[in-house]
This record gives sequence, structure tokens and C-alpha cells, in this order.
Amino acid sequence: MSTLVMKFGGTSVGTSSAILQTANIIKQHKFQWDNLVVVVSAMSGITDQLIQSARKAAFNDSAGAHAIIEEIQNQHVAVINALITNQDEKENLFSELKKRLDELSNYCQSIQVMGEVTPRGMDVISSLGERINAPIVAAVIRSIGTPAQAIESSECIITDRTFQNAVPDMKHSREKIQSQLTPLFQQSLIPVVTGFLAATPEGVITTLGRGGSDYTAAILADCLDADEVWIWTDVDGVLSADPRVVPDARPIPEISFAEVGELAYFGAKVLHPKTIRPVVSRDMPLWVKNTFNPDFPGTRITQQPPRKRGEITAISTIKDLSIITVEGRGMLGVPGIAARTFGAVARTGASVLMISQSSSEQSICFTIPSLHNGDVIKSIETEMALELLRGDIDRVWSRDGVVIVSIIGSGMRETPGVSARIFGALGKNLINVIAIAQGSSEYSISLVLDQEDAVRAVQAIHAETAPTPNGG
Ligand code: ADP
Ligand code: ASP
Ligand code: MG
Repeated sequence: MSTLVMKFGGTSVGTSSAILQTANIIKQHKFQWDNLVVVVSAMSGITDQLIQSARKAAFNDSAGAHAIIEEIQNQHVAVINALITNQDEKENLFSELKKRLDELSNYCQSIQVMGEVTPRGMDVISSLGERINAPIVAAVIRSIGTPAQAIESSECIITDRTFQNAVPDMKHSREKIQSQLTPLFQQSLIPVVTGFLAATPEGVITTLGRGGSDYTAAILADCLDADEVWIWTDVDGVLSADPRVVPDARPIPEISFAEVGELAYFGAKVLHPKTIRPVVSRDMPLWVKNTFNPDFPGTRITQQPPRKRGEITAISTIKDLSIITVEGRGMLGVPGIAARTFGAVARTGASVLMISQSSSEQSICFTIPSLHNGDVIKSIETEMALELLRGDIDRVWSRDGVVIVSIIGSGMRETPGVSARIFGALGKNLINVIAIAQGSSEYSISLVLDQEDAVRAVQAIHAETAPTPNGG
């Protein structure tokens, strides 16, 4: 039995012509696999709009919230009118849309009364885009003669209660997924599953984090013992850099799970960072392909692609960060300072993206999203109150407006000279490096730079990534 899971992202289902293109891709591949599962995102921009509607309601702006709801309605109505001719299908879709938007409007009213939106409430709202879109995409697939049925992933994927970043219970999910999808396979129906959302065992809606539909596809693939996962998006695969920063970024024909994991972790939006988790241990091939250039092979992600020594595979950037420094001469040799510092950070819920310690042990530096810097400093100051009073620690301070630029490539491993090329490129462009860390895997080197240098730095380093004729 061969099984393929294909996921279509927001832009692949963002307009009526894109949805039709998506439906045709599905129809074309259906015959090559025994079982085909489709995962769809919300139409592009809809999740942002849903979140905005909740925020406006929380700020008592009901007119603003309603204007957004109307826009969401118009966008979906236009697509249904453009693509669905069958009158019954059309009526069903309109009534489903109305039901969801009435729900949204009621949630916004409650939020307005409460004056706030909880993470749990935000998950119910932000997941509506997928729940509206899957039935539309399924109807379009049916309209071109391919049997398909929309499925809510809240009936399939079971998670804990970490709203907005829920963790799947794979064992429980496996049972649910198989029992929901197997009957559809037996009837040769293509399940069109909502990406992004899931539910607790009690049925409370959760989400897997922004961009989480990629992860949905990987979870389904794992639980169905699938053969491959294909992520359809709007670029020719995983590229050597963000194409919005480096217009001549190249598609990477093959990349390893480890490399793509680092790339996603360090900000490349093309894949949700958790996507590789369920598939890596099975060595299940994961492809990233372009809906708008479907004949291009895209990127194949596997355990160990061939790699040339000395080659840099890709560069990525995370913006809006702060570098926090805990410094003081009295820290020298005091055991447990680092553990207590990171304990204090963990209590704020901020994630530490990169750590560097100076060898003299007189300071600890780490990088976090700027959003959290006030809380983090306060928490460390409370934890270290005694050391600060005694003068063992002089100060805890933050430098804002920094980015992490990560240079990724398994070909850099044990190859001298790669860092020289990177720092040479930065030096030539007079770009100052604030901090450096090398991933323990040696697959990545990460640099903290001033935000204003980021674009120039990425472009300069990218110019160094061109493959060398003899592989370095
Ligand atoms: P989807 O809606 O299909 O999930 P996303 O917008 O989440 O698509 O991710 C695809 C986008 O990621 C691309 O359009 C591109 O602008 C951006 N991107 C950033 N870095 C990279 C990279 N290294 N390779 C490919 N795309 C990247
Ligand atoms: N629609 C969700 C988001 O915008 C999930 C996804 O697109 O993967 O974050
Ligand atoms: Mg995405």
C-alpha cells in the first residue's frame, strides 16, 4: 500500500485560480498512489485577519472586528461563486461559511465583554480559516471529478493543552487518524484535512503554532505509515536564502533533515520547525514543491544527501531579537550561575535562541525575542538579587534591535576555511559581529548582528555560497 500526504499552503489555496491549480495537481497524482491525503491551510492572509478581529474586539473596537469579518466573508464568497457551479454544493458551502462566521462574531462579542482574549480563545478563532477552507477545497476537487471529503483535524490529532503551540500525543492520534481516514481510503475518497488545528482529548480546539499545517502533514504521514510527504508552496523548494532578501537565492535539490531543521529553527519560513520530527526517524522523504511550477522537482529532504566539502547550503535570519548580558567579575567560578540564569528565563516563557559565554566566565550572553526582554531582565534580577547586592554581578542588560543570521551546511563540517570566508565577507562590508555561536552539530554557525546590517550581511554571505567547482 503506497500512501502520500500532500500539504497545500496559504498561497496554494489563496485565490480561485490557485485552488483550481491545487485541485488539478491532486487529480493528477491520485492515480500514482493507493492512498492520497491532502492537508490544506487557510487562504493566505485569513489567519492574520482572524487574529486581528479578536484583537480589535479585545480593544472594544467592534466596528473594526466586524469590518474584518465582512472581508473574510467576501473573500470566501467570491471563491465559492467563481469555482462551484453545482447548486447544492454552493448552498452547503454558503451555509457552512455563515455558521463559522456567526461563531466568529459571537466569539468577538464575548471577547469584547471580557476585554481580553485567552490563548484558548485565540486557538478557536485562528483555526477557523482552515475549517472554512477545507470544505471549499474538497468541493472544488469533487467539481473536477475526483471524489474528496473534508475532514476536521480536531477529530484526528490529539494534543496537550498548550494552546497556540500544542504538543501532539502521537499514540492517541495514531488511533484516531487511522480510524477516521481508513474508511475514506476504502471508498477511494481523498480526505481533505484541515491543517494547523487539533484538539485535546476532551475536544477543546488547539493549534500547532503559526505555520503549523506543515506539521499537521508530517503527523498524519507518521501515523499513517506513509511513504512520502510533499509540501506544496509558492517557491521552487527550499532556497539557499529567503528570496525576499536575496532575489537570486537558488533552489536546493537535496538537503538533510538536520540542515532543514536548523534552517527552519533559525527563521526560514518555508517549513514549520517541528515538521521534520515525525518523519526523521523513519527517514521518510519529505519534498517541498511549487504549486505554481509543478513540473519542477523542488527540494528533496532526506537523511543524508550527497554534500560537497566546504559548501554552505543556506542562510536564514531571525529578526526582532535582543541580546541579554549578565555580567560581573564576581561570577567567576561561582557554580550554578548559568543554571539559575536560564531557570529565571524559562519562568518567563521566553525561548532562548542562542547562547554564548565569554571564556573568562565574566559574562553570559543569550538571545531572545525582544518581546520578552523586560520580563526576562526582571526575572533574572529577582533571581540574582543577592549577587547584585553583593556586587558579584554588576548588571543585567539588553541590547535591542539585533538579528541572528545562521549559516547552515553539513558540508561545513570539519572543513577549515568556511568561517574565514564568512568573516571575510562581513569584514569587506564593514559589518560588525556582536556574538557568535556554532551549533553543536557543526551544521550551523550563528551570528548576532545589528538589525540594520542584516540584509547586507545575508547578501554578502550568500555571494560566498556559490558551489565551488571541486567542492571546496
Ligand atoms: P505556505 O503558505 O505555502 O506555507 P509560507 O509563506 O509559510 O508558505 O512559506 C513559504 C515562503 O517562505 C516563501 O514564499 C518564501 O518567501 C519564504 N522563505 C523564507 N526563507 C526561505 C527559504 N530558505 N527557502 C524557501 N522559502 C523561504
Ligand atoms: N494558517 C496557519 C497560519 O497562517 C497555518 C499555516 O498556514 O500553516 O499560521
Ligand atoms: Mg507555511
